[in-house]
Amino acid sequence: MPYTYANSLKLFARAANVIPEGIYGHQNPAFVLPGACPYFADRAQGGHFWDVDGNEYIDFQCGYGPVILGHNHPEVEAAVRAQMNKGSCFNHPTSLMVDLAERLIPLISFADWAAFAKNGSDVTTWAIRIAREFTGREKIVMAKGAYHGSHAWCTAYPGGVLADEKKHVLSMRWNRLEDFEKLTSDFQNQIAGIILTPYHHPTYAAQEMPSDGFWNGVRRICDREGIVLILDDIRACFRLDLGCSHHYFNIDPDIMCIAKAMANGHPLSAALGRNRFRDAAEAVFFAGTFWSAPGPMAAALTTLSILETTDAIPKMERLGKRLQSGLEDLGKRHGFNVTVSGPPALPYLTFDDDPDLYHIQSFCRHMISRGIFLHPHHNWFICAAHTDDDIDVTLETADIVFLQVRKELDE
Ligand code: PMP
Repeated sequence: MPYTYANSLKLFARAANVIPEGIYGHQNPAFVLPGACPYFADRAQGGHFWDVDGNEYIDFQCGYGPVILGHNHPEVEAAVRAQMNKGSCFNHPTSLMVDLAERLIPLISFADWAAFAKNGSDVTTWAIRIAREFTGREKIVMAKGAYHGSHAWCTAYPGGVLADEKKHVLSMRWNRLEDFEKLTSDFQNQIAGIILTPYHHPTYAAQEMPSDGFWNGVRRICDREGIVLILDDIRACFRLDLGCSHHYFNIDPDIMCIAKAMANGHPLSAALGRNRFRDAAEAVFFAGTFWSAPGPMAAALTTLSILETTDAIPKMERLGKRLQSGLEDLGKRHGFNVTVSGPPALPYLTFDDDPDLYHIQSFCRHMISRGIFLHPHHNWFICAAHTDDDIDVTLETADIVFLQVRKELDE
C-alpha cells in the first residue's frame, strides 16, 4: 500500500498556528512535495528513518548530509553521552576543541588552524569577512545558483535583505573561468575573495563536476590578483575523502569551510586556513554561545576515527555507483533519458527533458510513497549504513516507479 501522511498533516496544521510557515527553510514541505511526502520525522536507525505516521524509508537524504555513518551510530552516541554526563555547555571550551583542531589539521593538508561553529552559514560568513580583512577589499565572487547559507550576503531569497548587503557580491557561472577573468578586469583590485563549492550542486538541476583546468585556473587568477580562495566544502567534505574534497579534486584553497559529514548528525561546522590568514582571522570577531559545546566535538572525533579505520568512504562510493548505474539503466529500459550526476556518494537524478520538473517530481513522489526517500530537487546522500539490500530494494522499486511515471505521462 502506498504511504499516507495523516499524522504529518495534522501536526503541520498545529505547527502552522504557532510557527511561521509551519515548517520553514529547506524543510518546508513546498520545497519537497507538498501533500506527498512526510512532514515530520519520528526516529531513525542506520540508513532508515520512520515518520510520524509510522512509515519506514530508506533514507537517501541523511538529514541533508550530516549523517555519514548512519543514524544513531552506537559508538558516536556513546562518545556523546559520555561527554554529556560531564555537562553540555560550559563557560569555557573543553580539551576536545583542541583535540579536534589537532585531529583535523593533519587531515586537511593545507590547513594550519581550525575554528568551530555550529552551522555552515556561520563559517562561510566568517570566511568572507576574513578575506575582506586580509585584503582590505570589499567584493566577493560567488557562483550563480550556489548555496553558501541563509545569511543576507548570499541568500537567494529577497525577504528582509538590503540591496547594500548584496552590493559587494559578484556572480559568475560555476566552471566558467572566463567569467572570473572578466570580473577581475571589471573590478580590478576590488575583489577580496572568491567562494566556490568543489563541484556545482545547485538545487532543481543536475550537478556539475569541475572541468579540466578549472581549479588550477581559479588558483592562478587568485594568485595573480591577490584574491583569497575560499572552498565551501560544507556539503561533501568527508563523504568523498578523508582529506575532504580539496584532496579528492586536487584543489588548493586558502580557507575551507566544512560542516556536514563531520560529526554524524551533531551540530558542528569548522573553518580551516593557512597561517598567512591567521592575523585576519583573529581580527574578525567570531563567537556563538553554543559553538564550543563539547558533545558535537566528541561526536566528530569518534566519527573521524571510524571513517579512518573502516571502509566507510569507499563503501559509500561503491553503493553510490551501483545506484547511479542502476537508475540510469532502468531509466533507459523504460524509454527515459536520465542522468545521475555528481560524485557517487552524493548522487542526483535528472530526466534530460524535464523543463517543468514534472518527471522528477512524479518519480520521487512514487518512490517516497513506496518507502524510498529521494528528494526531487536536491542532491541525495549515501551513508555507510546503507546496504547492498537497500540498493537492490531501491532499484526494484524504481523499476515499478519508472513504469508508473510513463503511465502518468501517457494519461
Ligand atoms: N554551503 C553549502 C555548500 C551547503 O550545502 C550548506 C547547507 N546546505 C551551507 C553552506 C549552509 O550550511 P547551514 O545550513 O548549516 O548554515
